Amino acid sequence: MSRARVLVLNSALGPLDYRVPHGMTVEPGSVVVAPLGPRQLLGVVWEADRMPSDAEVGDNRLRNLLGVMDVPPLAAPLRRLVEWTADYYLAPPAAVVRMALASTSALEGARLVVEYRATGVTPDRLTPQRAQALERIGDRQGLIRELATIADVSDAVIRGLVKIGAIEGVEVDIDSPFPRPDPTHAPPKLSDDQRAAAEVLAANVAAHAFAPTLLDGVTGSGKTEVYFEAVAEAICQGRQTLVLLPEIALTEPFLKRFHDRFGCEPVAWHSGLRSTQRRRAWRAIASGQALVTVGARSALFLPYANLGLIVVDEAHETSFKQEEGVHYHARDVAVMRGKFEACPVILASATPAIETRQQVEIGNYAELRLPARFGAAEMPTIEAIDLLQEKPDRGRWLAPSLVTAMEETLARGEQSLLFLNRRGYAPLTLCRTCGHRFQCPNCTAWMVEHRLTRRLACHHCGHVEPVPRVCPECSTEDSLVACGPGVERIADEVAALFPAARTAVVTSDTIWSPAKAAEFVGRMEAGDIDIVVGTQLVTKGYHFPNLTLVGVVDADLGLEGGDLRAAERTFQQIRQVSGRAGRGEKPGHVFIQTHSPKAQVMQALITGDATAFYEAETDARREAGAPPFGRYAAIVVSSEDQPAALETARLVGRSAPTVDGMEVYGPAPAPLAMLRGRHRYRLLVHARRALDVQDVIRDWLGGVEWAAKVRVTVDVDPYSFL
Ligand code: ADP
Ligand code: ZN
Repeated sequence: MSRARVLVLNSALGPLDYRVPHGMTVEPGSVVVAPLGPRQLLGVVWEADRMPSDAEVGDNRLRNLLGVMDVPPLAAPLRRLVEWTADYYLAPPAAVVRMALASTSALEGARLVVEYRATGVTPDRLTPQRAQALERIGDRQGLIRELATIADVSDAVIRGLVKIGAIEGVEVDIDSPFPRPDPTHAPPKLSDDQRAAAEVLAANVAAHAFAPTLLDGVTGSGKTEVYFEAVAEAICQGRQTLVLLPEIALTEPFLKRFHDRFGCEPVAWHSGLRSTQRRRAWRAIASGQALVTVGARSALFLPYANLGLIVVDEAHETSFKQEEGVHYHARDVAVMRGKFEACPVILASATPAIETRQQVEIGNYAELRLPARFGAAEMPTIEAIDLLQEKPDRGRWLAPSLVTAMEETLARGEQSLLFLNRRGYAPLTLCRTCGHRFQCPNCTAWMVEHRLTRRLACHHCGHVEPVPRVCPECSTEDSLVACGPGVERIADEVAALFPAARTAVVTSDTIWSPAKAAEFVGRMEAGDIDIVVGTQLVTKGYHFPNLTLVGVVDADLGLEGGDLRAAERTFQQIRQVSGRAGRGEKPGHVFIQTHSPKAQVMQALITGDATAFYEAETDARREAGAPPFGRYAAIVVSSEDQPAALETARLVGRSAPTVDGMEVYGPAPAPLAMLRGRHRYRLLVHARRALDVQDVIRDWLGGVEWAAKVRVTVDVDPYSFL
């Protein structure tokens, strides 16, 4: 091939053609360096017929490619995934391919260092120091400094040994290989239900074929143990596994469990990696050496050499939806990757998404059920506390019966968890004298008081200010009052009620790294914490046998705002957090504080009748033509210049095509009318399922022009309606 179509890593550009100079060979998937004006850009060679270019250039005007990176070409299944993702989510292919090439350092090829080792040649006459060095070094290998330390001699002694040929240098790769997990290290003895499910999953892995399966098991049923058997099978076959987790905070406990089962840790991939760790992981993934990778959603686009299994754990989690850049849903993309790679995909959840259930219903996904908790553990009892009947005292948020239950739990030496999905001290701060409310200067949002850091923070843009002593409006001193509770305020209430109890607040403010999560887990396991107050961060994954009481402080919170998934999300979240109670031998109890105990979702939680709830929700969705029965796409028009945003939004609205089976609502100011200083307008497209809504939107927006200061983003299958 003397001409190559290249997807350069610049989202503003389409694919470009280059000449392949003499002596250079490239193939589809090759990672190359291409010139662009005076600059050099990374790019990936693509099949020309799959990636049309609107800038066809004659052979004589092509510029030469500058180089090929020393990494394996992106394989065809990954190239198909990139195309599908770009097409489905209306994203530039370059933006998707960038996620595959997530370590620039890794692309620069192997990096070698020289290590030293004994040659076995013993010179006739040795100084005592040299003799000591050779003896202590034995058959070890390392840098000069390391060998000198081992031998307890100076660097010069080692160098002297090199000079006389007793020690030699060898080039080694700085990216040392990862240990190989051992499938026979500590296999559990599975229950009958577990074994039945594990056998099906392992057989799917052995079959090397696309097989999406919902692993639907109550919390504590052993879903992890079961899918580990499929992982074991993939390891035996020498094929790679990717396990996706919804939060990096869950990585640490996962690593530990994996280590217990397979004798070493898997490769971790998340945003917290240092560049050298990232490079090592990327190269091991691309070479096939890394057999098991666990990661956040960004691990999905990495260039696995030989993928044999994908697991999406806690598959219902909405954090799998990416809300910036390419707006993809990792659960859906994982299934597509499995399809292109021809490998099984396991979606594990105790509360599967309605979308996933529907795929089972219509026969696209298989389903395996684990109906009971493992071993002696029973499902917890669940009770509602009617806040209209049983009012907490003024300025308090915990009802007397919940407090009593906490008292009893404490007396038994067991642990409690209070769940409130609100970071900080109070969601709103105002001036008692003039009523001034603190609003973020960049967003349509109240500033949230954080007492731990003594600041007001915007949870949308991260803007922070010190808490002022005087009201900026009326200058009254010490007049600020907090309205409503956040976790920090609940922790204060707990401290007042149980001064001797040891309390921990668990939110993304306190657990912001895998190491912090590990520390929290350690303290819980050691019994150093009596009461946890936490946000959704504590609702999933954790397994604390001595945690027997869960209190949901405000079950109605998630129902406010009422987007289409509000009830489903409330059900999942409360069911997940309830699932933290009584996972060991001691029984668990859950109290749900609500103003509407009769609401369907509360009833479903109390009775544990998930089926009825899912059926009712599904019917309502079907009725409304909402997902998964119909489709939505959101178009958000934003600009720092408000009239410009509004004008473009109106223009987009006026240009909407008339298509059978599609309706367009808006434009309207977004609920978050300003975000990070940008004014926002939304249009919502609602379409019949069969309609190729992406094609329609592509044509539609392709015919509209807007100023450079205006941004138009499309969110296909939106989860956020703000
Ligand atoms: P889930 O993911 O379904 O909530 P887990 O996989 O976390 O459940 O299992 C819950 C607890 O039960 C864990 O501590 C796990 O190690 C234990 N467990 C599950 N199955 C087995 C088994 N077959 N043998 C030993 N322990 C098990
Ligand atoms: Zn803000």
